[in-house]
Order: sequence, then structure tokens, then C-alpha cells
Amino acid sequence: MMRILLLGGTGDALKIARRLGPAHIYSLAGLGRVPDDLTCTVRVGGFGGIEGLKAFIQAESIGLIVDATHPYAAQMSRHASAASALKHIEYWALRRAPWQPQSEDDWREAADFPDIVHTLAPYKYPLWTLGREPLAHLDEIPPTQHWTIRCLDPHPGNARATIIGARGPFSLESERMLFDAQQTDVVVSKNSGGSATEAKLAVARERGLPVVMLQRPRLPPAEREFPDTSSLLDALEAGSHSHALFDKTP
Ligand code: NAP
Repeated sequence: MMRILLLGGTGDALKIARRLGPAHIYSLAGLGRVPDDLTCTVRVGGFGGIEGLKAFIQAESIGLIVDATHPYAAQMSRHASAASALKHIEYWALRRAPWQPQSEDDWREAADFPDIVHTLAPYKYPLWTLGREPLAHLDEIPPTQHWTIRCLDPHPGNARATIIGARGPFSLESERMLFDAQQTDVVVSKNSGGSATEAKLAVARERGLPVVMLQRPRLPPAEREFPDTSSLLDALEAGSHSHALFDKTP
């Protein structure tokens, strides 16, 4: 039987993990919540680079890597691609399509953190939805700005930063309330794609607010790439991987 190593940390990965039987392994970086109700084995923490991942593939007799990490987790994807090539196993990837701007949208693409900060200069109340990265810059907030930073876990703020620990999905109504409460005049976002965190873009659109969008990192090619979980699960079910793959219990 083909043993699968599923790389996750996203809602999509969890959907796939819920379908894996006990022979398979779901791996998490350890940044978010670790599910305790899965049939497959769950492991947490880095592998120790490409060499560590190669050793893990060998020790656990992994036959296929399925990469369902976040589109911005490029290092993990590069390591998975390289290690699977070196171990001669297949590397499949979920590649969620990026969001596309609509005609009324005012999106400004930013290459990196300094570029984001530069683009934000004219604004007063940015809403950061990039994850933890801005937390390392709390002492650098310009005196003309108050940052609202939404990330997975709560964190102490300061006089110029409000930090909100929250996990999506977020509704249109709750995003409107957040924008009102924080007087948001610009949004900072990754181009994550999917529907769970898309509502902020709709609220920015209806209010005519700009969105500073961090460019997507380049990801390695995979033997097979899938735009959504259902096509990936169909491929697993249809292929030689199907035997004992899914936990059939209700
Ligand atoms: P990364 O920069 O690609 O990965 C850094 C290291 O973390 C990897 O080299 C690996 O360590 C370990 N790692 C990452 N994903 C792993 C997994 N599924 N299983 C085991 N180890 C894993 O990615 P990141 O630091 O996790 O995140 C980069 C960006 O993606 C951030 O902006 C973050 O907000 C966003 N993001 C990540 C996740 C996630 O769960 N990873 C979820 C949502 C959003 P070794 O080299 O030691 O193997």
C-alpha cells in the first residue's frame, strides 16, 4: 500500500486529512491548532530541512507526498519537492488559485514587508491580515498610524497597535463590523485564494478602500497539481493509492 505524507496547516489540508486512514500521516508545522480527532497519524514540527525530510520518507516508507500547505509556505513546498525527487517518490500539490481583482478593486501589489510599509505611508488605520509577521515590527509603527493586526493567536499590543487573535472563516457582516470598529482605511493581505478569508476584500471593495496585496512566492512544480480538495481526493480515490486509503467508517 502507498503510504501518504500529507503536508498541511490549512483548512483544505484538514479536509483531506479527515479522509485519510490510519496508515497515513498528516504533518503540521505547529503554528496553529493540532486536531485530535483524526484517524490518520498526526505529527507536528519541522523535519529538519531537505535532509531531515528525506530521512523521514525513508524511515516511514512514504510513497507519496501531498502538499496542501498554505500558498505562502514556499520553503516547505520547495523542501518537499526536492526530497521527493531525491527519494524517487511522487510529489502532488494543491495549488489554490489566487484571488483576482474585480474592476472596482484598488489593489496594490507589494513585493515584501518594506514595500508594504512604504505603500501604507499615506494611510492611518491599516488592517493587517498577513499572519504574525507584523508583530516583529510593533516598535516601528509610524506615529501617524494605528495598526490593527489580525493573526491566529492573541498577542499583546501597544499604544499604536491592536492585535486580534481570530481564525477564519470570516463573514461579510463580521468584517464590516471590524472595519467600522477599527476605522480601517487600507487592508494588507496575502493573496491566499479560497473563500474563508475573502470577505475582507468584498468589504474593501464596497467601501472603495485599497488592498495592499503581498505577492505570491514562486512554488516548485509538482507531478500533479490540483485546484481544489475535491479534485485531489478524486485523484487519490481513482488511483492506485485508493487501497485502504480512506477511513470508511461514518
Ligand atoms: P515555510 O516558510 O514554508 O516553512 C518553514 C519551515 O517550517 C519548513 O522549512 C519546515 O521546517 C516547517 N514546516 C512548514 N510546514 C510544515 C508542515 N506542514 N509539516 C512540518 N514542518 C513544516 O512555511 P511557514 O513558516 O509555516 O509559513 C509561511 C507562511 O505561510 C507564513 O506567512 C504563514 O502565515 C503562512 N501559513 C502557514 C501555515 C502552515 O501551517 N505552515 C498555515 C497558514 C498560513 P523544516 O525545514 O525543519 O522541515
